[in-house]
Amino acid sequence: MGGSLEAYKLFTAEEKRKQDRYDQIQAALKEKASTNESGGRDQHSHGTMSNGATTVTNGAVHTPEPYDILIVGAGFSGVCALHHLRERFPDWRIKVIEAGSSSGGTWYWNRYPGARFDSESVSYAFSWDKELLDTWHWKESFSPQPETLKYVDLVCRKHELYKDMQFNTQVKSAQWQEQQRTWLFTDEEGHQYETRFFVSCIGFLSAPTLPNIPGVEAFKGQSFHTSRWPRDLDLNRDFAGKRVGMIGTGATAIQSVTEIAKVPGLKSFHLFQRTANWSAPLHNTEITPEQMAKFRTEYDMIFKRCAETPMCFIHEADPRVSLDISEADRRELWEKLYSEPGFGKWIGAFKDTYTNREANKLYSDFMADKIRQRVHDPATANKLIPKNHGFGTRRVPLESGYFETFNKANVHLVDLKETPITEITATGVQTSTDHIDLDILIYATGFDAITGAYNAIDFHAKDDRPLIGSSSDNPSDRGNTAIWLDHRPQTYLGLTIRGMPNTFMILGPHQPFGNATRSIEHAVDVVSDLLAHCKEKGITYVEPTQDAVDKWTKHVHEASGGLLSNEVDSWMTGVNHNVKGKTVRSVARYSGSAVEFRRRCEEVKGKGWAGLEFQ
Ligand SMILES: Cc1cc2nc3c(=O)[nH]c(=O)nc-3n(C[C@H](O)[C@H](O)[C@H](O)COP(=O)(O)OP(=O)(O)OC[C@H]3O[C@@H](n4cnc5c(N)ncnc54)[C@H](O)[C@@H]3O)c2cc1C
Repeated sequence: MGGSLEAYKLFTAEEKRKQDRYDQIQAALKEKASTNESGGRDQHSHGTMSNGATTVTNGAVHTPEPYDILIVGAGFSGVCALHHLRERFPDWRIKVIEAGSSSGGTWYWNRYPGARFDSESVSYAFSWDKELLDTWHWKESFSPQPETLKYVDLVCRKHELYKDMQFNTQVKSAQWQEQQRTWLFTDEEGHQYETRFFVSCIGFLSAPTLPNIPGVEAFKGQSFHTSRWPRDLDLNRDFAGKRVGMIGTGATAIQSVTEIAKVPGLKSFHLFQRTANWSAPLHNTEITPEQMAKFRTEYDMIFKRCAETPMCFIHEADPRVSLDISEADRRELWEKLYSEPGFGKWIGAFKDTYTNREANKLYSDFMADKIRQRVHDPATANKLIPKNHGFGTRRVPLESGYFETFNKANVHLVDLKETPITEITATGVQTSTDHIDLDILIYATGFDAITGAYNAIDFHAKDDRPLIGSSSDNPSDRGNTAIWLDHRPQTYLGLTIRGMPNTFMILGPHQPFGNATRSIEHAVDVVSDLLAHCKEKGITYVEPTQDAVDKWTKHVHEASGGLLSNEVDSWMTGVNHNVKGKTVRSVARYSGSAVEFRRRCEEVKGKGWAGLEFQ
């Protein structure tokens, strides 16, 4: 409950100092650019309100009247929400606050080498700016992080969104004020922001976690989390001659290991693996101007296709049942998928692959053979083949030469199942058998997913209840009264929460995530329609009924029934052994199809927003 976001603790002190300096320079540059853009009317430096009516007393910022809408988070969700809500409610006071020094969210924070989409670039773009779609050139079929950051920055500049965004502002707590029917947010410096409606865009993979290993603070070399990659670090210059270690083998490690191992003169690279992850080729390619011109004519078709598939990707399951067809026919599809770009090899497999254990085993065996073919040392190949879950029962990270990396003489896989880490020392990593000396230690330990960013805000909801708390807390502690006890979300349509009036979540728990921008645009549309209803009727209080929450939460649980993915510990089933209280599986996302989700939202709207109480 109300823990720290850890965002700024994931560096060594020196890294933190450099990063702060970088952020200050960035903020100053952005402010200058924005001032130029908006003729000096607006600013978005820390602690400055968009209408200039702010007063500061004893370091606290007071606004004379509450915002109509406060959006927290300036990733794709926050950007999309600000644009749409501002267009829809031009006379409302709307503001975005964001912990980072610029927009982009995931694509602002994750600057590690090799960071890129696994969604097809053209399917991830915002669909609502036709002019931008007609001019923006996605340089690669799976856009690398710097290009995506440029794209979102361009969106913000083009639509003058920066004037209503305030950066370097991390929300620490939020208090529901029953009498005023407003939320009062407080940032880490004590500045306060009052708002009628709160639109949460804080991300489902935005709260990084460090491993739960003794000695994390002890390491004297350079160390950092992958989502806080130092911006002045030059891979070839700074890693040459160095002994580098990385803990973690999730999607981030799989993308970055390949790039790090390419550094000429890298002395050694140790990858510490607790759990092997399935992975398969991304097959990224450049997009030529001619190909991009063709894509531009196809955008409508691409978005239409995404709207028709269960996870909003361009891929869809093969309608055949694996066990009904011959081995040759199965292999034909699998080989085709393996050779094609993107998530087809996950989503496009036979329709029974993720519900039938035998079908999943056949496909997993095929993938295991691929790993054996690509990794020269059979013992290493064997360690890289997951044993505790079948292919695709967790989101599948896509790779661009990950397995071949282990054929290099200076790359070593340390299997922590065989030789667990006992501690991190000043000079490296101590396992049960060896001390591995390191100059640089990288934590690719992922995120406190889905509920983590919510847990980092100390919510005082209705009746002073925390949003998240633990049933094992001392009975006198507020944690026992939490709305999402033990990190188990209870929502209505993944958009609203009982006990958290006037709160709307974009990509919150119990929503379909899939190809994120497609889900973001839909959620923003629903929230815009709901707020339009409130404005029209003069409504100042919205909260879902307990019955609506119970029924929706039950439906979310039922929708995940029968999926093999629910029998596996992963961030998608709410398990993270590095986070206190996240050791038991929960249903944190909607795994019914996105099509069904949209249908249900439409139905609720059609029934005059059934399930919501208005005052
Ligand atoms: C490495 C990586 C690769 C990914 N690749 C894909 C992909 O290819 N396709 C796909 O569909 N999805 C992908 N995702 C998921 C990705 O998170 C979404 O695509 C999308 O970017 C989410 O946008 P968002 O705005 O909802 O959240 P985010 O981008 O996470 O933005 C949330 C923002 O809220 C801010 N914030 C959070 N808490 C606070 C607070 N207390 N105070 C102030 N600010 C706060 C954060 O600083 C952050 O900037 C990827 C995720 C990661 C981590």
